[in-house]
Parts: sequence; C-alpha cells; structure tokens
Amino acid sequence: MVRVASRHQADVQNIYARIGSEAFRDWYQHRQTVENIRNGQPYFNGPSPVTPPERHSPSRLLQCHRKTYYSQLNAPEETTDPRGIFWFGTHFEEDLVLPFLQDAVADEETFVCNSLWVDFVVETDVGEIRIRGETDPVVVDSDSTPLLLFEIKTKRTVDNVTEPNRHHKAQAHAYMHGLSEKYERDIDQAVILYGGRTSLEIRSFLIEFDEAFWNETLITWAETQTTYRLDEELPPATPEYNWECEFCPYRERCGEGDLAYGDSTPTGLLPGFPEYPRKKVVDYLEAHQGVGLTPTLAWEYPDLAEEYRVYDWQCSRCDATHDWQIENSTETDYSTPDCPACTGIGPPGQLVDPGLNEQQPPEGINGGT
Ligand code: SF4
Repeated sequence: MVRVASRHQADVQNIYARIGSEAFRDWYQHRQTVENIRNGQPYFNGPSPVTPPERHSPSRLLQCHRKTYYSQLNAPEETTDPRGIFWFGTHFEEDLVLPFLQDAVADEETFVCNSLWVDFVVETDVGEIRIRGETDPVVVDSDSTPLLLFEIKTKRTVDNVTEPNRHHKAQAHAYMHGLSEKYERDIDQAVILYGGRTSLEIRSFLIEFDEAFWNETLITWAETQTTYRLDEELPPATPEYNWECEFCPYRERCGEGDLAYGDSTPTGLLPGFPEYPRKKVVDYLEAHQGVGLTPTLAWEYPDLAEEYRVYDWQCSRCDATHDWQIENSTETDYSTPDCPACTGIGPPGQLVDPGLNEQQPPEGINGGT
C-alpha cells in the first residue's frame, strides 16, 4: 500500500514537472506556427521583410514616427509581444463579434464577410504612397459588395470610452478609401466597435469619411514618414499619444528607458543589453543578413551562438578585439572581462560589446530595398 502511494506521488510529481512557463510558451509558439501554416499564412512565422519606404499599413497610421521607423526597419524589440491581448482580440472578433453580426445584425438581404483586402496607391507631394491591409468584418450585399465595414478593438474596459481613438479612425479611413476604389462605389461609413476585456461590454461609433482628416492629417503623416525613410533620417522622439512610450518595444533604443541609450540607429543590438527576449533576438538575426549577436547576448543565449555569427569583444582602452568566448565558457559572469592585451601596461581595459556602428548590416538599414 505504501509502495502504491509513493508511486502515485511520483506520477503526480512527473506530471507536475511538465507544467512550466517555458513549456507552455514553447507549446503556444508551436501551436501558432501550425495555425499559420493551416491558414495559408506561413509568412507570419518568420520575420517580416523590411517595409519599403512608400508602403504603409492601416494599423500603424498616425502613431509615433520614430516607433514606426524602428518597426518598419525590423529593429530588435526589447519586450515580448502582449500575446494575451492579441489572443483576446482575435477571439473577441472571431468568436463573439462575427456571430453577433451574423445572427443579430445581418438580415435576409445582407451577409457578413470575415475580412477584405485593400491595396491602393495615392499620389502625394513625395511621390506614390501605397497602403495595404486587411479589414475586420464587413457587412456585404448578396454580390459581396461592401455596405458597412467594422473595425474591432478591445480595451481593458470600455466604461470611459466616449469617442473613437484618432489612429483607429485613420485605420477605418484607409479601409473606406481602399474599398471605395476597389468596388467603385462610395463606402463612406464605418463602425469602430470596442469590446471590454473585463466586462465584455461593447461601445460602437458610426463614423463618416472625412476628406479633410484624410488629406490634412492622414496623408500628411504618411508623407512625413516616407520622407524620413527615404532620407534615412531617424525621426524625433515625439510620440503622437501619451501612452505610446509606456508600451513601446523600443524604449531603451529610443532613449525613453532607464538606461543610458538614446537616439540609436534602427539596426544593431544595444551594447551591454542582455534583456532582449530570445525570440526577438532570433527575429532580428533572421531579418537582417550578415548581422550577429553581441558577446553579451551570446553568453545569455549560448545555443544561438552555435547557430549565428557572434561579434568579438572590443577593448574599451586599446584597439584589441577578442573572441566572445575569451572567458571560461563555464563562467556565467560575462559582463566584466578584462582585456588580456592591455596586461602589463597599466590597468587593463574592459571588454565591451561592439557599438551600433560596428554592427550595421552589409546591405544597409533599408535591407537593399
Ligand atoms: S519610446 Fe516613445 S518616442 Fe520613443 S519610439 Fe517609442 S513611442 Fe516613440
């Protein structure tokens, strides 16, 4: 009896040992990969290519120019994605809003389409600007011609939502413009619908296409962003909204974080910064040919050092460089090796990661576009 009890206890321990945050993260990642392949969207599994300067995504319009610049150029992100928010957003739209529109909003003459693509070009003062993206659900007629498009967003609570956010309006305007052009009819109204993650309450706003907002705000923003890209000029650190810096994945790179970085180029891993999430490091290395890991990150993720190039340590005092493994590979304190080449000529310099200028990709920041 005692033996049976102890075997049962061992089974429980074995099962419990398989429940770990790393195991869950890996399982979730794999599940996403399989789902993307099943949906015919394998491109979501790898890094996105560098966005051409003239191209804009509706979901990124009217946001901080610098954040958009970093994102378009695949700068390494410093934080993990808010996967829980993404997960809720997807399920809120697919499992609740779509059935609601189908069951309670559409009638015998109208239908609900999951999404529609828009891809159009606008002539501007800086040349052609291209906007591509995929709408949220659209109510269509029996010919599948759009009648009313929806833009679905979630917030923790909708209690204090009294009007749609400006950048959500911009997104809906891009879709209205694109669908009007694609279907050769005026689609000049859209619903922006917010769902509360805590209460599942909704707030919705019917908006009209506003020509002045389109030309003077949205197109002007896109022209400005394209100009920064064409000139390879880092935009100023001026967010469009107060909340942007708090949730920005480039806070340290930009100079809004706690450390002594700032106004950094979009490529290169921040020297001496070990906090990059592993997946973001891989995404960055896969997105830019010829770039490598800093020695600091090679010590943080030794398995990646077997797969990718690793830069040498550089001496902070003399011109010497040293292999990243100069410290005993069983050591975990990678942060303060002294420079062996300085020995005997005063206090040795410290080995540091190469600066951002030494880490630039051979094809340039625009990825050869
Ligand atoms: S930290 Fe703020 S200013 Fe800097 S890129 Fe991010 S949003 Fe823009």
